[in-house]
Amino acid sequence: MKHLTITIDGPAGSGKSTVAREVARTLGFTFLDTGALYRAAAVAIERAGSDVGDNEECGRVISHTRILLTGGSIEVDGTDVTEEIRSPRISELSSAIAVHPSVRSELVRIQRSFRGLSSLVAEGRDTGSVVFPDADIKIYLNASATERAMRRQKELLTKGTDLPLERVLNDMNRRDNRDSSRSASPLVIPEHAVVVDTTHLTFHEVVAKILSIVEEKSADK
Ligand code: C5P
Repeated sequence: MKHLTITIDGPAGSGKSTVAREVARTLGFTFLDTGALYRAAAVAIERAGSDVGDNEECGRVISHTRILLTGGSIEVDGTDVTEEIRSPRISELSSAIAVHPSVRSELVRIQRSFRGLSSLVAEGRDTGSVVFPDADIKIYLNASATERAMRRQKELLTKGTDLPLERVLNDMNRRDNRDSSRSASPLVIPEHAVVVDTTHLTFHEVVAKILSIVEEKSADK
């Protein structure tokens, strides 16, 4: 059987990561968390002491860094950064360096290397529009800004970071605006994507909805 590629894009807090991971697990597909790569790149750039506003310098650092994404963990030059990349500091830094075309092209190369090995569920901001424009099934997840901020606040709390909702909402809006307004691969609803609003859906309802979209669409393939 042909390997399928499913892309799940959307803004921060739309539930992409957890939902995409569960969809991949249920289907027995490889899960590709592209945001983790941007986060790992941010760690590498921070460690190198580079100017985060310099496209060429950031791209150079990434081209000399070994980023290894396997299963649920991620390494930067042999150091496990799985926990570190989830901090608010790295959230902010990853969105700042994600505007650079040189960084994006290095990371897109890594993302495309996942294809062909097995069927894939990729999640991020541009997986359906730029990384895998010919994906078999494209989903775009969205939710209201307040709902997304509440989810993010809860997620941070489970990791020991307790922040007021207003601060989480402001940080998220800043990242969303940057993701949507950048000239290199902005966050868009990919052509032919099915849009799912998750504001009033539980995690299990979103997973079930995506699985039914996959079933319906793959029957046509
Ligand atoms: O999804 P996550 O919050 O882990 O992504 C971290 C940052 O990486 C995002 O704020 C976004 O700026 C960037 N990103 C991106 N393109 C992707 C995935 C993530 O620009 N495909």
